[in-house]
Amino acid sequence: MKKIKQIKTCLELEKAFGITEITLPGKTTRNTKQEFEQFRQTVLKCTKCDLHPTRKTVVFGDGNTLSSIMFVGEAPGEEEDKTGRPFVGKAGQLLREVISEFLPCDQVYIANILKCRPPQNRLPTRTEIGSCLPYLSSQIKFIKPSIICCLGSTATTVLLGKQSVTMGAIRGKSFQSIYGTVFVTYHPSFLVRRGLIDLPIFKNDIKQALIASGMIKR
Ligand code: SF4
Repeated sequence: MKKIKQIKTCLELEKAFGITEITLPGKTTRNTKQEFEQFRQTVLKCTKCDLHPTRKTVVFGDGNTLSSIMFVGEAPGEEEDKTGRPFVGKAGQLLREVISEFLPCDQVYIANILKCRPPQNRLPTRTEIGSCLPYLSSQIKFIKPSIICCLGSTATTVLLGKQSVTMGAIRGKSFQSIYGTVFVTYHPSFLVRRGLIDLPIFKNDIKQALIASGMIKR
C-alpha cells in the first residue's frame, strides 16, 4: 500500500513537471551497448527544451555502464558544458577525488538530472526537468544500478518524487523510489561553498553508498 502511494506521488510530481511519458527502470528494452550508444547520439542532438541554444555541449553522463552505482547531480556547470563530461569542475573534482579514495572513478557512472547547462548555473526549471528526466530514466533502466546516489537537493527531490527535501535530515539515508534504491548526500558544490567543513560527513556518505551498492566491502 505504501509502495502504491509512493508511485502515485512520483507520477503526480512527474505530471507537474510536464512529463507525459515515463520510462520506468526495470526490465530493459535498451539492452545492448550499441543501442545505448545510439540513444546517447540522439540525446547529444536534443533540442527539447529552452537550454539547447545556450549550451556548448550536451553532457550525457559517463563512466561504467555495468556499474552497480550511479551518481546523479543537478546539471552541468561551466567546465562540464565546455568538456561534455559531468563533474569535472572544482566541485566535480572533489567528488572524483573522494570516490577515488575507495575505488577507481571509472568504475562508477556519473550523470545529472539535466544534460545541458542552465545559464549562470541557475536552478533547473520544472519544464526543463520534465523535458530531460526521461533521458536519465532511460540511463537508469539500461545501467540498472543497485544504488542511485543523489548529490544535493535537486536530484533528491526529483528522484524521490517530492516537492522539497531538507538535506540535513535525510542525507546519509536510503529510500525506495520508482527509480530504485536512492541514497542521499550533499552536492559537492555545497561542500566547496562551505569551506569543506562537511567533507568528513560527505566522505563517509560516499563510502556508505559504495558499500550499499556492493562496489566495496565494509
Ligand atoms: S536539457 Fe535535456 S531536454 Fe533540454 S535540450 Fe538539453 S538534453 Fe534536451
